[in-house]
Amino acid sequence: MRIGVLGLQGAIREHLNHINHAGHEGIVIKKVEQLEGIDGLVLPGGESTTMRRLMDLYGFTEALRESEIPMYGTCAGLILLATEVVSQESHLNKLDVCVERNSFGRQVDSFEQFLEVKGIEEKVNAVFIRAPHIEYVNDGVEILSKVEDRIVAVRQNQYLGISFHPELTDDYKIMKYFIEEIVAQYQTEYIK
Ligand code: GLN
Repeated sequence: MRIGVLGLQGAIREHLNHINHAGHEGIVIKKVEQLEGIDGLVLPGGESTTMRRLMDLYGFTEALRESEIPMYGTCAGLILLATEVVSQESHLNKLDVCVERNSFGRQVDSFEQFLEVKGIEEKVNAVFIRAPHIEYVNDGVEILSKVEDRIVAVRQNQYLGISFHPELTDDYKIMKYFIEEIVAQYQTEYIK
């Protein structure tokens, strides 16, 4: 499959690498017109305020709000997908969850751990960097993983949101899950 990575800011190369290792074709998306040619889109981690500004500037905000293409957001990408962000406005409104930015920030700026993720057989290597967490989810959102009582991975139909950074490890399972479960299911169920 052809999977785009939003190429405005953040961990772009790392995600491309993951797409390719998962056996699919990764494409850097820098213009809205390129959205036509892809089966799914990754919104990378980085800095969500910067990404939000660039998305407004290059027309991605409007295009992606209207689009139903499957999307997978990590960290800052999850913040962009959420319908609610603590103390600020939401952006793409695709995942019906409330996120809080930098919520793992203070005590431990970054940490790594092996996590159980629903739908994936083996544990996933998860790296958290000033990560957001999901405070609560609304109807229709499936919780895929938690760290203690904090929700860190969710899915709602063709949208996947993850607090951490699989792309900084050589664990390709979440990318494979996004492409081969979520994108594939979307194509068989929704596209005639
Ligand atoms: N703290 C960042 C933000 O709020 C996200 C961190 C990340 O993507 N690693 O945008």
